[in-house]
Amino acid sequence: MFWERNIETLEKDQLQVLQSERLARTLNQAVQAPFYKKIFEEYQVDPKKIKRSSEIKNLPFTTKQDLRDNVPYGLLTIDQKEVIRLHCSSGTTGNPIVVFHTRHDIDSWSNLMARSLFAAGVRDTDVFQNICGYGLFTGGLGFQYGCETLGCLSIPAGAGNTARQIKLMQDYGTTAIHAIPSYLNRLHEFIVAKGMDARKDLKLKKMMIGAEPYTEEQRVRIQEMFGIKAYNSYGLTEMNGPGVAFECECQSGLHIWEDAYIVEIIDPKTLEPVPDGEIGELVMTTLDRHAVPILRFRTRDLTRIIPGKCDCGRTHKRIDRITGRTDDMFIVKGCNVFPMQVEAVLLQIPEVANNYMIKLETINDNSEMIIEVEVLSNWFRGDIARLDGLKKQIEHGIRNEVLVKPIIRMVEAGSLPVSEGKAVRVQDLRNLN
Ligand code: AMP
Ligand code: ZN
Repeated sequence: MFWERNIETLEKDQLQVLQSERLARTLNQAVQAPFYKKIFEEYQVDPKKIKRSSEIKNLPFTTKQDLRDNVPYGLLTIDQKEVIRLHCSSGTTGNPIVVFHTRHDIDSWSNLMARSLFAAGVRDTDVFQNICGYGLFTGGLGFQYGCETLGCLSIPAGAGNTARQIKLMQDYGTTAIHAIPSYLNRLHEFIVAKGMDARKDLKLKKMMIGAEPYTEEQRVRIQEMFGIKAYNSYGLTEMNGPGVAFECECQSGLHIWEDAYIVEIIDPKTLEPVPDGEIGELVMTTLDRHAVPILRFRTRDLTRIIPGKCDCGRTHKRIDRITGRTDDMFIVKGCNVFPMQVEAVLLQIPEVANNYMIKLETINDNSEMIIEVEVLSNWFRGDIARLDGLKKQIEHGIRNEVLVKPIIRMVEAGSLPVSEGKAVRVQDLRNLN
């Protein structure tokens, strides 16, 4: 069963023809953006000469930094009058990247989302509760529009307020949910605390989980807790948001929609393509976006193409779950955090000494960000109430900056190990890979 059989089952050569046509259109559009106009001149790219999708290798890469440097309008290709929405990437308050959408862009994204949900077995008869943040984060409205396009009864529940989430599930007989995996542990704890059995007392039939890295073991545990299947959803703001790649009912990798994106996997050091099956950095080009087309975007996400065909009959390539990143960004509680943001907050506080360490740990089934902070000795050994005030100040500052509440552990100046060579500032002890 397909949402759009004619597109989802296109043979490889037909897909390439479609991609080539769409790439030509995309390049024509891209050159209207001040950023790409300049880049094409600098790299002497004549977009009209690129006739086939395989020639994409002649184009330069686009990085997150390029997008940041060109906030707000450097990548916009059309009159602002045509734009109906913008989204920003999560977590960063410095200069978050922005993507604008025309009505066409929103329709195209909604269709990709509907296609993804359908592939994972969601139908118009489902009651779909979207348990994630609405607003600038793409997971809220992305899933919302997808559900509506598909025709589900959608419940835009938003994030948090677990008691209310459960009541909504009971009152309206929710059959499908979308949430970030780290939240599902809390949801389950709550259900148990209410004396309910998630497997018997709710009508849930399937879950969509994504937006942050998690292991297969975590997925298995979540599936066992709720007694239903959980399908992996991958996306990023630069490429719309969710609906980029999604698991079908076979749960054997995520189909990445090749009519909407050209997919490359490169060696992050040599920048050369790696063969199918080998892990590398995912690079993507939009093929159906008008306001902000993005060419050869270096996602920094590590994955591989799963060779061979999927049993579901869809021909679009499959990527494996994301196994890590090539930069130092980490994701905790669904928020993207760069260690530099934490450092920037700490360094503004004069009582904080030079060294700190970010530890990501699983505590009571939840991902937590623990920050060990060195504090000047006279403060550390001084008045306890004063020290407590400092701790709150640090906690507040970091929460404001990265949108995640940290656990602050204060230590005396000079007590954290100093690494030889490049400082190691983050220890991910969550066993995500
Ligand atoms: P944002 O643009 O803020 O939504 O963040 C996008 C990033 O979230 C991606 O580049 C990935 O690093 C991460 N991400 C999204 N979905 C998944 C997933 N299913 N598994 C692992 N990481 C994910
Ligand atoms: Zn499949």
